[in-house]
Amino acid sequence: LSQQRPPLMEVKGNLELKTPLVKASSRLPLPGSRLKRGPDQMEDALEPAKKRTRGLGAVTKVNITRPRGPPLRTAPQTHGQTAAQKVPKKTGPRSTAVSTGNMLRNQKPAPAAPAAPAPKPGTAPPMVAGKKPGKRPAWDLKGQLYDLNEELKRYREKNQALDRDNQQLQEQLKEAQQQAKTLGTECSTLEEELTRVRTQAEQGQQELGHLRAHVSEIEEQLSTKEELLQELQKEQLELQEERRALATRLEEQERRQQALEAALSSSQAEVVCLRQETASQATLLAERGDQLHGLEMERRRLHNQLQELKGNIRVFCRVRPVLAGEPVPSSGFLLFPPGPAGPSDPPTCLSLSRSDDRRATLSGAPAPPTRHDFSFDRVFPPGSRQDEVFEEISMLVQSALDGYPVCIFAYGQTGSGKTFTMEGGPGEDPQLEGLIPRALRHLFSVAQEMNGQGWTYSFVASYVEIYNETVRDLLATGTRKGQGGECEIRRAGPGSEELTVTNARYVPVSCEKEVEALLHLARQNRAVARTAQNERSSRSHSVFQLQISGEHAARGLQCGAPLNLVDLAGSERLDPGLALGPGERDRLRETQAINSSLSTLGLVIMALSNKESHVPYRNSKLTYLLQNSLGGSAKMLMFVNISPLEENVSESLNSLRFASKVATCRQEHANRPCTLILCNFQFHLSRDAP
Ligand code: ADP
Ligand code: MG
Repeated sequence: LSQQRPPLMEVKGNLELKTPLVKASSRLPLPGSRLKRGPDQMEDALEPAKKRTRGLGAVTKVNITRPRGPPLRTAPQTHGQTAAQKVPKKTGPRSTAVSTGNMLRNQKPAPAAPAAPAPKPGTAPPMVAGKKPGKRPAWDLKGQLYDLNEELKRYREKNQALDRDNQQLQEQLKEAQQQAKTLGTECSTLEEELTRVRTQAEQGQQELGHLRAHVSEIEEQLSTKEELLQELQKEQLELQEERRALATRLEEQERRQQALEAALSSSQAEVVCLRQETASQATLLAERGDQLHGLEMERRRLHNQLQELKGNIRVFCRVRPVLAGEPVPSSGFLLFPPGPAGPSDPPTCLSLSRSDDRRATLSGAPAPPTRHDFSFDRVFPPGSRQDEVFEEISMLVQSALDGYPVCIFAYGQTGSGKTFTMEGGPGEDPQLEGLIPRALRHLFSVAQEMNGQGWTYSFVASYVEIYNETVRDLLATGTRKGQGGECEIRRAGPGSEELTVTNARYVPVSCEKEVEALLHLARQNRAVARTAQNERSSRSHSVFQLQISGEHAARGLQCGAPLNLVDLAGSERLDPGLALGPGERDRLRETQAINSSLSTLGLVIMALSNKESHVPYRNSKLTYLLQNSLGGSAKMLMFVNISPLEENVSESLNSLRFASKVATCRQEHANRPCTLILCNFQFHLSRDAP
């Protein structure tokens, strides 16, 4: 490709080449004006020469009008001076001759005029002044002959001139033919050149077409590129805008970051300080924790000491109010003398006046009523509310959490208010809630508080009744519900002190709602049984047991104790005057079983208080079941429920006498160690501790 010249350049080169050709043709005897034509008109320029060669007449005319050679050689002619202008000047005489010749060829001699006067024969025709001699008369033959001779002479001269001209023209013709040949050669060369140039031009055109297509393609591309460029420029502008915005944001972020870094460094410094402080606080906290734990242990010790001082066996007397429809007892039947500190002091004594109709004075008048005084740890007169009663026993609930077994009994004749005291009154009235729901609520809340000191507690409840020395589950559900499916009291394992009731449900509880559900279920179970066996509930002991387990994982401490809330069977005796029918015999057996178990309870308490070697736990199912919660460091509280009615005075006295016996069984010191198991001695008692 590099060797090829671009077609346009080649065309230009060819054009340059033609210049000498044109110059060559300038040697031709052509008018100067024709030299100014372009190479493509060269042929046309040659054309007249050919014509001249063909038609002699015309050639003759041309040759006559032009002189040979010199006009072409003397090239510097004035521009615009045409051949036509020159020819008449130089060939003036000849043109005359030609025109004469033509005239000779074309004109016929005109006929002689007869009217003119004849001149002298043999002389020249007479001349009119200033005019051609006129025509000779017909008779002047001599004159006419003269004229003809004269004319012949002129023609001969003319002929000679024409011959000379002809000769000259012949020569010129030869020369022109020679020139024509040369020109023909030149022409063919030029034609070839022309063809070549045309081919080249065609090629050039084709190439030009290609190039145009290419150009248009490129232009298209260019326009696309331009569009793209515009888009890109637009995009660039947008990006620049965005960049600016980002830069602004970056600056802002950097500023913020700097601020944050400053804050961070100050925070870090603060953190270091705080860490140091925390470390010292942690040390202090650990110390405080140890102290707190020591104090807690001390509190437990003191609490227990207090409870022991109050008595590990305590007896409270509660007299229920007279119910609607019941006869109002005579005034002075039951008296509640104020405590030693005066009327503000809660009563601890109770006086019961009994008039004995069988005894009479010598005068015959009825004997004055016998006054029986009883003293207990606390006496609750009929108006006492449930919360007041609970307040007194809440300390025992704390003891249970501290790891001391607790037993709370309700003793009394049927209808004296045992169930009311233990479970509560009828309906949903929260004021009438009994000891069991209150004690459990208290337990849960205290356990929650103890959580903060690292103690975690769990509770498992069971509820059984003992009727006629058989144990029955009150929490039974499903098919066992209401059935008197027998349960047995067994040791939890060989060598284990712990007792369990087989076939009874032990339900983990953690909130009041769950306990409420259990009490509800027990009530339902009792109701079903009541229809089957008449008023069995009052003839059986209901034992609600809650196994409390506490653990202080961090110090490896564990404690556990049962809390027993027992609603005892009615303590009334069978009327000895009653006839013993078949129903009464059953009743008698039932009563004997109740009396036996109640007296066993009394005996067990006595044996424990007297520190006897043998304690008759096995004599009743009740004492056997409760053996781990009686005696030792265990706390026992007995409510003796009294009916306010005069008609129940005998049973009331019996109950009060039983309770008084129990009350005398004060244990000076705990026989058994507290069930708190000290797994390791991480804690230290405070220095002040004894
Ligand atoms: P028990 O269980 O000893 O047989 P109850 O608890 O069933 O006796 O009480 C008998 C009746 O006396 C029930 O109707 C009970 O609501 C009512 N009662 C008992 N104690 C009180 C009291 N402190 N206040 C109001 N009513 C009571
Ligand atoms: Mg009852």
